[in-house]
Amino acid sequence: MTDALKTFLTDLDLDIRAQGDWGQVADYIPELGRIDPAQFGIAVALPGGGMVSAGQARQRFSIQSVSKVFSLACVLGRIGEQIWTRVGREPSGQRFDSILALEHENGRPRNPFINAGALVTTDELLTGRAPKETLAETLGFLRAAAEDDDIHIDKAVARSEAATGHRNAALAHYLKSCDNLRNPPEITLGTYVHQCAIEMTCEQLARAGRVIAQLPGAPRMLTPLKARRISALMMMCGHYDGSGDFAFRVGLPAKSGVGGGILLIAPGQASIAIWSPGLDGYGNSRMGSHAAERLAHHMGWSVFG
Ligand code: GLN
Repeated sequence: MTDALKTFLTDLDLDIRAQGDWGQVADYIPELGRIDPAQFGIAVALPGGGMVSAGQARQRFSIQSVSKVFSLACVLGRIGEQIWTRVGREPSGQRFDSILALEHENGRPRNPFINAGALVTTDELLTGRAPKETLAETLGFLRAAAEDDDIHIDKAVARSEAATGHRNAALAHYLKSCDNLRNPPEITLGTYVHQCAIEMTCEQLARAGRVIAQLPGAPRMLTPLKARRISALMMMCGHYDGSGDFAFRVGLPAKSGVGGGILLIAPGQASIAIWSPGLDGYGNSRMGSHAAERLAHHMGWSVFG
């Protein structure tokens, strides 16, 4: 199977590059705005430790909102179900940085994967800890899950987002005004932008995702129930207001980030990471989504049978 998969991924990489319909990079974060959109990498982690990849699968990129999956995993490990008093688990149907629903719903964000929701989970993780220790926990989770210590934060990206992140600041202050932020907004925001600025390669991210896919041979860091629940949230909320379309086209739980990364989970079968930094109108990787659709169809991977 790995030889056939390698051939498929190599052809897919060539096709994607030939198409060249890359989309726009996330220039609202100036440091990400400088990245060449014409890039693509894909890595598939398989049961028992196999890894098949193609394109720029060893190139580091900013995981951005993909980190929200792992900060949620850390929060669930720490306080479990209690987190749902502070954040919901419904699709938002709105942009990732929207403030609209937050006012209607009295400061309880719709889910942990939109920015307002991730600010709340990061704020929860900060309870009783300094920002450095909190970031060390999320990084530590990723390193243990990927079985690779060479995963770090790109401070230039964090600084760049901190300097221009007025929307996230508005969200944090709104949450604070509703009594749903424990720390000073600057502290939660500073921790959040550093968490989003974690850099990984597709191969590292696919390896980390094995703990959610519950692949045989992966470190046992999540109970099956937690992994199922995180996957359910990825399916419903992982691509923001593009989540329905992504589920329709691909049929796998997945989480995107504005760095152009997508982590996909084929439960028990594979953990897949794709990177292409050009985005569509929802802020999801354009060519990454296309590649995900092609791979899922080719392999017959879908949670819908
Ligand atoms: N750090 C980014 C932001 O807050 C993450 C958004 C994303 O990846 N969708 O805007």
